Amino acid sequence: MRARAAKVVLVGAGPGDPELLTLKAARALGAADVVLVDELVSRGCLAHVRSDARIVEVGKRGGCKSTPQSFIERLLVLHAKQGRNVVRLKGGDPFVFGRGGEEAEALRAQGIDVEIIPGITAGTAVPATLGIPVTHRELARGVTFVTGHAKDGSEPDWRALVRSRTTLVIYMGLKRLAGILSSLDAAGMDPATPACLIENGTLPGQRQRVATLGTLSGDGFASPALIVVGDVVRFARASAAMPNARAA
Ligand code: SAH
Repeated sequence: MRARAAKVVLVGAGPGDPELLTLKAARALGAADVVLVDELVSRGCLAHVRSDARIVEVGKRGGCKSTPQSFIERLLVLHAKQGRNVVRLKGGDPFVFGRGGEEAEALRAQGIDVEIIPGITAGTAVPATLGIPVTHRELARGVTFVTGHAKDGSEPDWRALVRSRTTLVIYMGLKRLAGILSSLDAAGMDPATPACLIENGTLPGQRQRVATLGTLSGDGFASPALIVVGDVVRFARASAAMPNARAA
């Protein structure tokens, strides 16, 4: 038995572009013996992992082959208890719709220390690729991160969201896009409110569609995609602030 306590480092990989990984994340990856990585994480982020370290891919994308959460947690516990440096690498920020909270809780319940290294969440970085400032103070009171896919299938309080006058950034909403837009419309949002959809934000294959609440369509778009609704979307540039991004 080693003297140091078993530990897992929960690391945010950022929104896609491997250069948006933090220095702390890169350092943790370089020190890891084992890295459990989610499907959404860009392979470029793994460039920091030592060649003798083990990389375990644990897919989690909705609908496709995925690794049960309990299995991932068991694997983390097993490696940590064997004294290895374990990194759990998740897309964006591990605590923003990333189940990081659940994993940290499960690990602590097993007596494993958990260190958190935050990441840049897609919710701010992806709109920024188009020059959208999510909290421009003349146009928004703040920003609200919402999931389009709640675990229990329940709906957010759309009226409260409309009344909040905050920019809405909707994660995992592509499949339900039409329903989300009509719920916002029914909750009193002006159909002329600017809205956009951004696929593969910060990555070479980024695509975006800028429209309004009344006209935005998800046709031809695929996950991962983010929906942004609010007056700040007026700032969206026709050509993205990132190279390679193209309109669709
Ligand atoms: N923890 C992550 C979010 C995980 S939920 C974060 O902080 O960013 C997965 C959802 O995030 C996707 O369905 C999509 O809505 C959004 N997302 C993540 N990366 C994205 C990207 N590069 N471009 C567009 N949307 C992205």
